[in-house]
Amino acid sequence: MFKRKARYEVRTAGDPVLSRAAAPVGMITDEIKQLAEKMFQSMVAFDGIGLAAPQYGESLRLIVIDVPLSDEEKAAGLTPFEESMYNSMPMALVNPEITAVSGDVAERDEGCLSVPEIYAPVVRPARVAFRAQLLSGTPIEGECGGLLGRCLQHEIDHLDGYLFTDRLSPEAARRIEGQFKRLVEFGKSHDFRRVTRK
Ligand code: ZN
Repeated sequence: MFKRKARYEVRTAGDPVLSRAAAPVGMITDEIKQLAEKMFQSMVAFDGIGLAAPQYGESLRLIVIDVPLSDEEKAAGLTPFEESMYNSMPMALVNPEITAVSGDVAERDEGCLSVPEIYAPVVRPARVAFRAQLLSGTPIEGECGGLLGRCLQHEIDHLDGYLFTDRLSPEAARRIEGQFKRLVEFGKSHDFRRVTRK
């Protein structure tokens, strides 16, 4: 017996949907919940730790995340809020917003499902305060650092029309410039869609 493989896609750099500010989610309808479910499936199919609705072609303020907790971060200690977030993974966040950022910054290599095979260091605030709603409508609010804080900043950037490649130092930007241009050129002939079947 043959089983047809499911097809998943994400939009790639150069697609206008990725450089536009996404609209707030109004009511959390069944359509929004279905969209979140499809985004989860794509994120898993592409082995991502986060996906924003624009990457799925929907210009809405909705993200899904599945951030793994490293032994280092666990050993360094989590705040009760961070612990509750990690215990809730994977999770969908509706209208997520950064409300404050720490003065201290951290640098770490980032990648993105919409920017395949390109990795570069990004300097971001080490900790952020953020708020969002769960799909149930329950509001959540708290502070996160580490990979979780970084992932939230990266995904919320997508909702404002920015890719991590917009956040690079001039040196890092120069280093990936050729590769990025080739990615956009490739995207033009593939409708800015990256497809996988699983
Ligand atoms: Zn991304």
